[in-house]
Amino acid sequence: MIKSEIYPGIFNSAVEGLKKIISKDKHPNIEIDCTILNENISTLESIVELSKELGGVFIDFDPVQIYGVGNNSNYKFNIDLSSIDKVVSLANKYNIEITSKERIELIKKYFKKEKIIVPCYSYCKDLLISPKGEVYTCWTINTIIGNILNDSFAKDWEKALVKNKDVLTGHKKECYTCGFSHSRMPDQNYKKYVQEANKIRLDYILSKEKSHF
Ligand code: SF4
Repeated sequence: MIKSEIYPGIFNSAVEGLKKIISKDKHPNIEIDCTILNENISTLESIVELSKELGGVFIDFDPVQIYGVGNNSNYKFNIDLSSIDKVVSLANKYNIEITSKERIELIKKYFKKEKIIVPCYSYCKDLLISPKGEVYTCWTINTIIGNILNDSFAKDWEKALVKNKDVLTGHKKECYTCGFSHSRMPDQNYKKYVQEANKIRLDYILSKEKSHF
């Protein structure tokens, strides 16, 4: 059984709470979100055991992100990739749904510090806003594109979209080192959808390009 070494009381309460929710006839969808990092790679299988204990809750894995630089930093990943394969095998054995195999491959590439070329779906639809209103387009491109509290923000956002439009095809330099698999969705099921959505977005951005530059 999985247990938290840091806050066991809080962790156990959360698990008990989840069990109560899941025992109801009608309950919201629940998933386990698990960030893979040096410190937990040797215990990942216990997450699958926890899911089994909860009746087979979906598990979404993502790699730890190095803010602003992705896998391009000097940080040494101490990740044994065979541990990820073991987790996938165990989940398959228990018939537990986890992150798609395409995204697992993206995660492995990230840990191997290989170049990743997969379009980003998050771009144009997600913004990160600091308490002061400063806006970043995403977790990895470490640039403030404007301030949401300023009246000029709509225009500032459009300018940033134009400047970073290579994101839509996965060919922006920062995207090569970004492991955010859930914002890229390389899954076969989504690929066509992402390409179509990004084409519409690109047409929109190109229509704005003339007015800004
Ligand atoms: S793929 Fe590119 S745009 Fe998307 S989150 Fe990563 S760095 Fe940001």
